[in-house]
Amino acid sequence: MSLVKTTRDGGLKRRRFLVGAGIAAGAGALARQLPLNVIDKAEAADPVPGAAVPTEIKRTICSHCSVGCSVDAVVANGVWVRQEAAFDSPINMGAHCAKGASVREHAFGEHRLRYPMKLVNGKYQRISWDQAINEIGDKLIQLRQQAGPDALMVIGSSKHNNEQAYLLRKWVSFWGSNNCDHQARICHSTTVAGVAQTYGYGAMTNSFNDLHHSKAVLFIGSNPAEAHPISMLHFLHAKELGAKMIVIDPRFTRTARFAHHYVRVRPGTDIPLVWGILWHIFENGWEDKDFIAARTYGMDDVRKEVAKWTPDKVSDVTGVPESAVRIAAEMLAKNRPSSVVWCMGITQHHVGTANVRALAILQLALGNIGVPGGGANIYRGHDNVQGATDVGPNGDSLPGYYGLAEGSWKHFASVWGVDYNWILSRFGSKELMEKPGITVSRWFDAVNEQNQFIDQPSNLRAVFYWGHAPNSQTRLPDMKAAMQKLDMLVVIDPYPSMTASMHGRTDGVYLLPAASQFETQGSCTASNRSIQWRERVIMPLFECKTDHEIMYLFARKLGFHEELCKNIKVVHNEPVVEDILREINRSCWTIGYTGCSPERLKLHMENKHTFNPTTMRADSGPCKGDYYGLPWPCWGTPEMKHPGTPILYDINKSVAEGGLPFRANWGVEHNGASLLAADGSTNKGSELDVGYPEFDHVFLKKLGWWNELTPAEQALAEGKNWKTDLSGGIIRVVIAHGCAPFGNARARCNVWNFPDPVPVHREPLASPRRDLVAKYPTYEDKSAFWRLPTLYKSIQAQDYSKDFPLIMTSGRLVEYEGGGEETRSNPWLAELQQNMFVEINPRDAAQIGARVGEFVWVETPIGARMKMMAMVTERVPVGLVWMPFHFGGWWMGEDLERHYPEGGAPTVRGEACNTGWTYGYDAVTMMQETKVSLCRLVRA
Ligand code: SF4
Repeated sequence: MSLVKTTRDGGLKRRRFLVGAGIAAGAGALARQLPLNVIDKAEAADPVPGAAVPTEIKRTICSHCSVGCSVDAVVANGVWVRQEAAFDSPINMGAHCAKGASVREHAFGEHRLRYPMKLVNGKYQRISWDQAINEIGDKLIQLRQQAGPDALMVIGSSKHNNEQAYLLRKWVSFWGSNNCDHQARICHSTTVAGVAQTYGYGAMTNSFNDLHHSKAVLFIGSNPAEAHPISMLHFLHAKELGAKMIVIDPRFTRTARFAHHYVRVRPGTDIPLVWGILWHIFENGWEDKDFIAARTYGMDDVRKEVAKWTPDKVSDVTGVPESAVRIAAEMLAKNRPSSVVWCMGITQHHVGTANVRALAILQLALGNIGVPGGGANIYRGHDNVQGATDVGPNGDSLPGYYGLAEGSWKHFASVWGVDYNWILSRFGSKELMEKPGITVSRWFDAVNEQNQFIDQPSNLRAVFYWGHAPNSQTRLPDMKAAMQKLDMLVVIDPYPSMTASMHGRTDGVYLLPAASQFETQGSCTASNRSIQWRERVIMPLFECKTDHEIMYLFARKLGFHEELCKNIKVVHNEPVVEDILREINRSCWTIGYTGCSPERLKLHMENKHTFNPTTMRADSGPCKGDYYGLPWPCWGTPEMKHPGTPILYDINKSVAEGGLPFRANWGVEHNGASLLAADGSTNKGSELDVGYPEFDHVFLKKLGWWNELTPAEQALAEGKNWKTDLSGGIIRVVIAHGCAPFGNARARCNVWNFPDPVPVHREPLASPRRDLVAKYPTYEDKSAFWRLPTLYKSIQAQDYSKDFPLIMTSGRLVEYEGGGEETRSNPWLAELQQNMFVEINPRDAAQIGARVGEFVWVETPIGARMKMMAMVTERVPVGLVWMPFHFGGWWMGEDLERHYPEGGAPTVRGEACNTGWTYGYDAVTMMQETKVSLCRLVRA
């Protein structure tokens, strides 16, 4: 097969333009040498005499964080010549942070992968795409025959657009495995699990803009001044209007310096602190009693746990003075609506899901959910981590959180137009088809572990790293050992990523150059659930290919391209993105990805200026009545014109206008108590004035609403529920009666199907407070959890605190993002932050005689040693060190530059702090622990 690209457009024009630009530059240089007296009056320049270069604006989205800032790319004859601020975006209103202001460099970076490469005798050699696809494909077929489809792990990207993320999940399904995952596992999987199991959906409830309505905001385990800078503009606006600001963090961050009230907490004690705040709220009767009575289940169980956390006990465990806890409680309670914002300081713990739930419950107790200015606001990291979570490569679910049960597979078989039994035949067994796959946080254990202890037939033998940084994962020495054992390691990325340099292999590695997000088009979902259409700015540079083209080429080699693209047109090997989105529109009813057609999203991007930057609603123009980006759920078909849901669980609006109750996802009663909302607690305009279950064909018939479906809709909806009715008729009729398709229930404060139904404190696995371990122990070890044995008690039983006396924790910098290979290759950003460093309190630094700028070794209990520059600062307290996690390219003191492909090493390299992290995984999602462990410092 030939992979030579057929000409699509612009190649010749583009070269002509570059030649023209060269002439213009020459003319400019000459002009500067002319004597002043011969310089004429200035006129608008014509760079190429007689051949003006027309420019056009392409609307795209910053690819770094999830705030979703718009970027206007100025393109001339196919060349991206400059970027401009998008003043018309209601999200960023012309503002960019340093990362966003330099995204053009991300596309044009000199350090990018340019052509496919293969490792031969320890050196990367250029190969053709034909060779790459054929060799990798042959190896996959061989592995499949020898070990079965579960010998492959595909780590997808949170930078794929929605369509690519969805297609990758479909691709892995047709390969016959659930061994796929992406970044959300290690940044917000605990958020998704905790919030979804409490409220119904695992997403941020309000928007960045909605903070304008807040009277107080609690930032806990989040540092948006650096991680999500443009979001801070919205908060600072609220602060100008009088909002109070509370920051809870072990480190005095750049966000903390804005705070009215800063609380320094011992890492790993968030639950006692939140319960301590709630203790004051209950003690003073500050809770919202009506809200609790009408819309929550199990708050009395929470009260019992909270009662144990008296101020003295909270202070002892968390290290926070009693008065500071009370001030935080009073500020939140007396300045309502108050909002809570959290990030990885909360999520990346072995109790991450329980941490999230404690905060979700705090907001319920204060009645802060479903109101403007309130909410549980979870800022995600990558530009499309929300969308990739919604419809992408998750090992425990098909797109739209449909799960893996037989009914879910049948729903998608129907949407995909393929036979369920054919999909089944691709898997090792039905059991494996319905079993969650290996997670990205632990794929290497599935290589290193003895086969008898793995809950699938074979160990992993091949791994695809597709737009994902390995240095964002913990326990890197174990990962390196696994990389060496694999039969094959494939990296698909615009940049080589640290994967290319750290493996220590001499062969069996392929690097495939992927196009950046500026070289393709599609939709991406910001943290607030707004979906934005990103136009293609330029055609893929060098020999790069878009992710969806690469998926198609592999599918063709492996023999399932026809099934993969049955409903999707393919042009020059590229599945048409709009067709993929239409397939998402036809399938993902659960989360309302059905109303957001490509046409509607493009219309929003073209008319950004018509949306109000506080409400996000278009008050005029062609999108009148819609909320910006149709924040999901955007119910029904596109023709139904649902406006999107700006605030989840807001019963003061009708469902047709973007309102919603809590989701009835767990039945109608538990332990004799109703799980449905109290009588009278329903959305504005609802014909049912009581709590009600989710809708299906039976319920619709009982209510006498069935005949409102057209005959064609009835034919499709018979025997179905609102999630599986492909006609959308059930949803249409239910919303016409003012009801929510998913029912009207109570939020759960007691999640009886979780390890801790009410969150309880459990000491960190590597705790410095050994006196508290017996009192607040961790979980029992598990033999098979996400296909792997997982340790808790046996890890916590080891006392490292004497040899490793310092607590270590980590976080973000404003200059870099994620694993950082792209941003550390960007000369503008690299200029700003040139060294990996560790923050050390002056008293701890004095213990080893370390001064600012000197190198120290950070040593951890897993035998890792990391060489970093000392940053001696009071930002961290005595006994704690803090490190940014964006660095990579060094390995325990050695610069790996020579191991990168030629020219591919990032400008700034440094030790990856995740190299040293100890073992620890969330008891629900397998989220890795990166926020509390132990270390010691040695002067280098
Ligand atoms: S990194 Fe985030 S905050 Fe900065 S410009 Fe990009 S999207 Fe906006």
